[in-house]
Amino acid sequence: MREFIESLPKAELHLHIEGTLEPGLMFELASRNGIALRYPSVEALRAAYQFSDLQSFLDIYYEGAGVLQKREDFADMAMAYFRKASSQGLKHAEIFFDPQTHTSRGIKYETVVRGLREAQERAKSELGVTSALILCFLRHLSEDEAMLTLDEALPFRDAIVAVGLDSSERGHPPSKFARVFERARAEGLLAVAHAGEEGPPEYIWEALDILKVRRIDHGVRCIEDPRLVQRLVDEQIPLTVCPLSNVKLRVFDTLRDHNLKRLLDLGVKVTINSDDPAYFGGYIGENYVATADALALTQAEIETIAKNSFDASFV
Ligand SMILES: [Zn+2]
Repeated sequence: MREFIESLPKAELHLHIEGTLEPGLMFELASRNGIALRYPSVEALRAAYQFSDLQSFLDIYYEGAGVLQKREDFADMAMAYFRKASSQGLKHAEIFFDPQTHTSRGIKYETVVRGLREAQERAKSELGVTSALILCFLRHLSEDEAMLTLDEALPFRDAIVAVGLDSSERGHPPSKFARVFERARAEGLLAVAHAGEEGPPEYIWEALDILKVRRIDHGVRCIEDPRLVQRLVDEQIPLTVCPLSNVKLRVFDTLRDHNLKRLLDLGVKVTINSDDPAYFGGYIGENYVATADALALTQAEIETIAKNSFDASFV
């Protein structure tokens, strides 16, 4: 099964580039940039990756991102992701980045984007992997702050294909970002949003109706609302599901409890993605293998999911 899955061409549509920072590279960049980490070793850092929910993960995730200082740091991180995922059959990636995590530390938006663009070019020429960037707003911050981020991004408009919404979901509904998404869409950008991971089905309705998103990131809680599931099926709105992440962050107790196969059976256009692979124990290939194994997916079902990933992409 692993061989079959790794040879299957796949697109990844839910991947936070900051979440690909492996402990080894984190230590390397920390030493290159003269930054002290709270953890004495790679092993101690890895041991801290026991999360009880989304917030406990985000606390470590934001600290890790602090080692990213220069253009080449962003390029090295992204290139490491491309190499790893390409070895598991990745052909195309639509990659989230969180500019506010960096601009709040005094790193210029331009530095982040130039580093990521450099890696994208190299991935295309060296690995044959195409990619696009999606600017994510941090939803625990205000809409005004998101608007300032969009202002910083527009001079580099061509670097991104869409805007998205991530970070702590509960208490931060999509409707909080109605104006900034409207402006982004007016600038010709597409929209996606995390919704229905920890948040309720209502957040998915809001993402569709107010933010006018083309895909829902996660979206697994749609199953609580049959009318919503019917809409996702009727309009073939893709869900970018991240199985290993969902278990690591306790959205489901075990992979066997995951509703991906139920959603697939209901006709929802599901895809499999890795979210933050350095933290959640697997890249795209490992997510496919573990899910196929736990839910007894057939080869035909796996092919459908891989095909969905290209249908749902913005290329
Ligand atoms: Zn995510």
